[in-house]
Formats: sequence, C-alpha cells, structure tokens
Amino acid sequence: EQSAGFTNLGATELNRLYASLKETYGEYKRRNMKLDMSRGKPCPEQLALSKEMLDILSSNDLLKAEDGSDCLNYGGIDGIPEAKRLFSQMMNVSENEVMIGGNASLNMMFDALSRAMLHGVYGSEVPWGKLPKVKFLCPSPGYDRHFSICEQLQIEMITVDMLQHGPDMDMVEKLAREDDSIKGIWCVPKYSNPDGITYSDETVDRLARMHTEASDFTIFWDDAYTVHHLTNEPDPLKNILAACKTAGHPNRVYMFCSTSKITFPGSGVAALASSEANVSHIRKQISAQTIGPDKINQLRHVRFLQNIDHIHAHMKKHADIIKPKFDMVLHKLETALGGKNIAWWNKPNGGYFISLNTLDDCAAEVVQMAAEAGVTLTKAGATFPYGKDPRNRNIRIAPTFPSLEELEAAIDILCLCIQLVSIKKLQVQR
Ligand code: PMP
Repeated sequence: EQSAGFTNLGATELNRLYASLKETYGEYKRRNMKLDMSRGKPCPEQLALSKEMLDILSSNDLLKAEDGSDCLNYGGIDGIPEAKRLFSQMMNVSENEVMIGGNASLNMMFDALSRAMLHGVYGSEVPWGKLPKVKFLCPSPGYDRHFSICEQLQIEMITVDMLQHGPDMDMVEKLAREDDSIKGIWCVPKYSNPDGITYSDETVDRLARMHTEASDFTIFWDDAYTVHHLTNEPDPLKNILAACKTAGHPNRVYMFCSTSKITFPGSGVAALASSEANVSHIRKQISAQTIGPDKINQLRHVRFLQNIDHIHAHMKKHADIIKPKFDMVLHKLETALGGKNIAWWNKPNGGYFISLNTLDDCAAEVVQMAAEAGVTLTKAGATFPYGKDPRNRNIRIAPTFPSLEELEAAIDILCLCIQLVSIKKLQVQR
C-alpha cells in the first residue's frame, strides 16, 4: 500500500507507521546482537577454498622458480617469471609490464604515490612533493583507503561524482585540462568499491586520451575486483594500458591488483602493471627498498591458481558462496524499501559491496541507529574524501563476511533504521 512512496502518506499514517517500526526496532535492540557489515572481508567458507594451498609446498620439493632461482633464498626484485605470467593473464598485459610485490596491493599504491611525491614519476620534471600543491581526482563514493593515502601524503582531494558508467568524465576532463596541480586520479574500474560499477569503454578511452595540464598525470587503476564476478556474464572492461598506448600516453597508468580476495587477504600476492618504461624505472627505485618480495608465497600461489582459466573456476566457487548473500540483501531491500522513494541501491554483477543511498542527510543517523541495535556498518561518509559525504546519504553494505542468518537480521535492522530516519526527515520537512 506504500507503493506511491512515503512522501504520499499523510502525517497520521506516517506517525502510526513510525510507532510500529520503532517497536520492532526496540525488540531488535533488546536482542543485543553483534553483527558486522563494515568491511569487505571474505567469510570463513571462502577462506576454506584456498586452505589446500598451504599444503602445496613441501620441504621435500625443489623450491625453484622456472628461471632456476631458489625461492628459499634472496633474489628476484620484481617476482618469479611464473608469477608474472599469471598476473599478466589476470591484468591482460605482457609479462614485461608486470611487477610482483608483497602481500598487498594497497601497499604498492601507497609506495607508488610516496615515490611520486619524493621523486616524481617517470618523466616528471619536479618531484610532486616539491610543488606548492598536489591534487588528486577522487571519483566518489570510492574506496576509503585510497583517500587515506592522499590525506596522509597531504594531497588535496577533489571529489568527482560517480555516474552509471564510471566517473563524471566531463568533470574529469575539464579539471585535468585546467589545473596542472592535478596529478592523478583514483579508479576502481571494475565492480567499483562501493558502487559495483564497471567503467564503460568510452570512459576508459576518455581517461586514456584526455589532455591533462600536468604532463605527468597518472591514473591509479586499482583493479581489485578484476576476476570477482557474481554472474556468468562478467562485466567487460576495456584494457586501459592498451588504450593509453593507442592514445599516445603509454606511461599514464599504473594498474594494481592482488589475490587478497582470491586466496587470503593479508597473505596474498600483489602486482603492479604499467608500461615497460615505468616498470623499469620503478624497479630501479625499489631496489633500494628491498632485495625482493616473498617468492615462497608467489610459488605457492602459482602452483595453486595455475592459470587464468583455473582462477575463473576458483572464483566461481567464491561466487557460489557469496551470491546468495547478495541476492538475499537485494531481495530484502526491495521488499522493505522498494517503491517508497526513500532509498536507492545498485545491483552489482561482481565485487564485494552494495552501495545504498538514502534521502539526503540521513546516512549518518541511519548508521548510528543501526549501531545502537548491534549492526556495525562502514562509517557514514567514509566513501568520500575527508570522510565527508556532501549529501550525507551513502551507505556501503558489505554482505560477504556475515553468515546468511546474521546478514538477514542485519539487513532487517538496516531497513528499519532507514525507514525510521526517513519518516522523521519527512515529518520535519512538512
Ligand atoms: N583496493 C580496493 C578497491 C579494495 O576494495 C581493497 C580491499 N578491500 C584493496 C584495494 C586492498 O587490497 P590488498 O589486500 O591487495 O591491499
């Protein structure tokens, strides 16, 4: 009966609804639950999929890489050949364009940006940190940890809206063309965190082609969810490195990815891909920082994951575990909130999140109310630079970690809170 939306309900009806929802909310509160939907972590069943990887190397094996190097010893600044091959398949680049890092891609991103601040990127005239101001474009909602890196390095963040096919490219092109202190952009191009959006070919082409006032403008292309599909029809993503080469900007992009959500977060293998010129420049720089990353973990991963087809088969098992969770959340949102004109959400084909927008100025209160009933959500505002969502409406739902039962309760509570806060908001507006 509410299909016309809450806005069409009279004050008395809204008050009555509020009272009954509030009662249900009170019942949940008394149950003292502890439900965490705050971070995009795999659940224990997902982690179990990779446990056999821990048995794949044995002390009896000859632990040598293809090039004969002993994985038990020093050496190999940018990874063993078979690891480079595996990542080159995943990232769709050539083996010479890949560097293997340590256990986390975020670390590689932080280091890459730190190096740019200290020394500039390949082709920079001045280290970025020596300039009076450095700015980055931050399509938002986005990944909070990208924004934390900028904050820590004192890089000013400019919020750019995320649209259905990626960042608002009119805005990106205009800003990058006009301001030489804008040195780069953060992108999560596939199943973006949190919107679950995949950039269109046109978006990729425009990023590769656009004129940037800074000649050393660099795209930080965080392809964290490149093989993390939820359906049998994966979103296609155009190859940015190839597009940059075609556009005559071969050194414009750093691509990142990792096996964090393929095998074990925190104990995976990360990689960076870029032009050969960039990669050899970086290789020289990092030779002062490390003798080389963990080759044993690389070997373990290559033996376990084997090749891109095998990775896809492995990811299918992840999808089998988490797809029902996404489906349940989407179904519940539709049932509780559909047609009420108080919340809108995306239906991602992959990745780890469902991004939900409330009415303006409601998100922080919803998150707070949910917390009081035992449901921990990502902090409101976290998906925007400086933790400030200008419309205070975005909520990131991370459905993978909780069990189905826990998730059901958590979403029920979330939907209750959204309705309660919306009604209050609508009553005030009248
Ligand atoms: N990028 C994005 C977009 C992510 O969502 C995450 C993990 N939640 C990461 C990077 C972190 O990856 P890693 O474990 O390789 O540092």
